[in-house]
Amino acid sequence: MDHLWTPWRYHYISGLSDSETTDRCVFCDIPRGVDEEQLIITRGRYNYIVLNRFPYTSGHSLVVPFRHFAAFHDIRPSEWNELGELSQRLQQALAETYHPEGFNIGWNQGKCAGAGVADHIHLHLVPRWMGDTNLVGVLGETRIIPEELTSTYEKLRRFFT
Ligand SMILES: [Zn+2]
Repeated sequence: MDHLWTPWRYHYISGLSDSETTDRCVFCDIPRGVDEEQLIITRGRYNYIVLNRFPYTSGHSLVVPFRHFAAFHDIRPSEWNELGELSQRLQQALAETYHPEGFNIGWNQGKCAGAGVADHIHLHLVPRWMGDTNLVGVLGETRIIPEELTSTYEKLRRFFT
């Protein structure tokens, strides 16, 4: 079980601002920027999809409501319907692109549950392969190669244009 939930402990870190020490919220800030720079794969009416800049595995993405709120039970039906559709399309895109053996798809609510940005709820989609936890265990959060993110972005964006 520990391994199953490990992805949620890997915090989303913007590099632009630290939402824990300022009043700014990274998930409110991201959509104010340019899609390519922010790694926004697509925008819906109520939600957007963005690559995690510190992915647990290749393709690790987030589906984020534009509206700033913290609790899962506060998701409105209109937001939920679109969020579900975007998440399913994203999973299909990840499956066709990376052929993972499984997925973690889930929410963290609250710091104690592993939420890196606890004030603005977001859904993680994490492609998984047998043995990928060993890689992460060794390399942790510092294994990000910018070219890999750009490549991931180009591959996934094609599914939403
Ligand atoms: Zn926010």
